[in-house]
Amino acid sequence: MFPAELSAFHHLTTPVWVIDPIAERFVFINHAAQALTGESSLNALRFGALSACAQTRLSLYLSDLRHSSEIVEIWTLTLPAGEVPLRCRLTLASFPGLPQVILFEGANIAHGASENTAPSVGYKSRRHNFYHRFFMTTTAPMLLIDTARDGLIVDANLAALRFYGYRREEMCQKHTWEINTLGRQVLPVMAEIARLPGGHKPLYFVHRMADGSTRHVQTYAGPIMISGERLMLCIIHDITEQKRLEQELEYAALRDSLTGLLNRRQFYALTEGQTASHMPLKSDYSLLLIDTDNFKAINDNYGHLKGDEVLVQLARILEACSRKGDLIFRWGGEEFVLLLPRTALNSALDVAESIRDNVMQMRNEELPAFTVSIGVASHQAEETIDELFRRVDKALYQAKNDGRNRVLAA
Ligand code: GH3
Ligand code: MG
Ligand code: MG
Repeated sequence: MFPAELSAFHHLTTPVWVIDPIAERFVFINHAAQALTGESSLNALRFGALSACAQTRLSLYLSDLRHSSEIVEIWTLTLPAGEVPLRCRLTLASFPGLPQVILFEGANIAHGASENTAPSVGYKSRRHNFYHRFFMTTTAPMLLIDTARDGLIVDANLAALRFYGYRREEMCQKHTWEINTLGRQVLPVMAEIARLPGGHKPLYFVHRMADGSTRHVQTYAGPIMISGERLMLCIIHDITEQKRLEQELEYAALRDSLTGLLNRRQFYALTEGQTASHMPLKSDYSLLLIDTDNFKAINDNYGHLKGDEVLVQLARILEACSRKGDLIFRWGGEEFVLLLPRTALNSALDVAESIRDNVMQMRNEELPAFTVSIGVASHQAEETIDELFRRVDKALYQAKNDGRNRVLAA
């Protein structure tokens, strides 16, 4: 016996099947549904010749349905006129005295439907059932695009609807350029691919989801002939996480993990073997070698963690005092290097002096007061980076010997 509420479905002309997703059996079938499927088993409907479903086990839909995802299955109906596909929309429902059930609501269908009157279940699928089954059941998001109609999305599979967060009706009114952050600039790219004789091309884009968020995607787009029409099949692969990891790795390879400044390896990458045409070092440049005074005592008196905080604070002061185009490196330990492109010695001394002064004036209740000594040198013609470094190191050594908290030029 089924609850009285279910009897109300008998008044609908829409076919409705109420199914227990765990036991995978019918709990209730309304009159309209009964007239369509008669004694057909659930398996015959779900796994018939024209059927398409994203999950073989119904229980696997439960989590998505709870999050109100749009789920559609295509069933195979065996009518006197032959087999026809029927689109069913799935929703979760609860009735007194029943376990949670899935409501399958079929699209209205005319009796004795022939090939021509079968309901549309996606892009001209009635004539392309193989295409449609493959398209609907694959877990990779796929879009079918008509480049001749301004990049209109003419079909989207369930995985794509889930990925972008649109309902089919919404998705199939959109154009590729509406979901691509490139906007209409993407159209010439699509037109190029559409002209290719075959083979899918991987391309990288940023796509916009229904909720406004964006995802990095790799798309394989290639021409496909369907019903004599040349369309574009786009397979979408979400690479957002991969991108994030790549960026993290790139950041870790370039940057010092404590201060976020460029690391020593980057200094050599930018200076070693560079020709005069290298951008930052094209013309005269200067170098500052900055060393924290008596840093060992800070560690000893306040602990290594406080010492780290001092280094981070110093890094922020260096950033605040540097100008656009200047490069700041954590040289190692409590030493930093500032590379000042297109800067003569006088200006470099001014920058160094402002750093020294700002460090000395810095007031931070959380941190001990500290000072820095700075060696400054400007690059001379034909000088190697090692020779320049020796000079700037000597200047720093002299500044330390002269009593620290000072700037000295080589
Ligand atoms: P000077 O004025 O002559 O430069 O003296 P100093 O004490 O700053 O120089 P010294 O080279 O004797 O000591 C530097 C100390 O910096 C020693 C080392 O333990 C410490 N140090 C190096 N790297 C780090 C770090 O990443 N964090 C902390 N907290 N300490 C570091
Ligand atoms: Mg040192
Ligand atoms: Mg030091």
